[in-house]
Amino acid sequence: MKFADLHLHTQFSDGTFTPEELVLRAQNSGLACIALTDHDSVEGCGRAAAACAAVKMEFISGAELTAEHDDTEVHILGYFLDTQNQVLLERIARFQSVRQSRIREMVAALNRLGLPLRAESVFALANCKSPGRPHVARALVKEKLIASLDEAFERYLKKGRPAWVPKTKMSALESVELIHQSGGLAVMAHPGLNRTDEIIPALVDAGLDGIECFHTKHSTVMAERYLEIAEKYRLLVTGGSDCHGFSKNKPLIGTVKLPYEHVEKLFAAKKSDDEKRRAAGK
Ligand SMILES: [Zn+2]
Ligand SMILES: [Zn+2]
Repeated sequence: MKFADLHLHTQFSDGTFTPEELVLRAQNSGLACIALTDHDSVEGCGRAAAACAAVKMEFISGAELTAEHDDTEVHILGYFLDTQNQVLLERIARFQSVRQSRIREMVAALNRLGLPLRAESVFALANCKSPGRPHVARALVKEKLIASLDEAFERYLKKGRPAWVPKTKMSALESVELIHQSGGLAVMAHPGLNRTDEIIPALVDAGLDGIECFHTKHSTVMAERYLEIAEKYRLLVTGGSDCHGFSKNKPLIGTVKLPYEHVEKLFAAKKSDDEKRRAAGK
């Protein structure tokens, strides 16, 4: 039996592994295919693709876009993205700059609460263009301003806590469109985590291609529920661990094993999409 893990993060967003370390771990977990899905970034894809090619592992270049629909945050995974697509790169750059401003705002809020953290320390630790809350949490722990990552989120960074800052997001429909124009397939990430079932029909109307049924934080019951939804709307089925290395907890890569039949359907959908695009002369 062959398996895949299609939801992984590296140092190019808030994961702790380099693309090469990630591929090595994937190999040790016996995975036959991985997808890299850093937050609002495709920067690690080139290196991950090369590392996969060297060990004959299948690779899908991707990203996880933070979006919203009716004031609900929703993450949209893009698979098979053309990582050189100029429109995609421009849009990503804009959302990376939103992320950087948000870090400054969170740090300012922490300063007002008496925690002497500097935004520069967060950026130095993040060392990537897509910094996020886990980097703020890690910087707080590193500078001994707080005891643990959990405490950083519980006391300050979680939604509703005093240093939480809302994030300007692209609309979910826009993100589906952006993924499509970059040659990719759009998949709704961990629907069970955001409790966003009511927006699925609108996303399907916008051209959503798939849904992440298997995820670290989905129970078996949840996975079954989303498999039914996938069947109802004829959506592709994906799954992944959402591994962030040591950033959030222990490395999760390989703990969610997506059966290969779903990977094959994903590759087939990409192929038929490409054929349609070629026939339409695009
Ligand atoms: Zn997510
Ligand atoms: Zn993720």
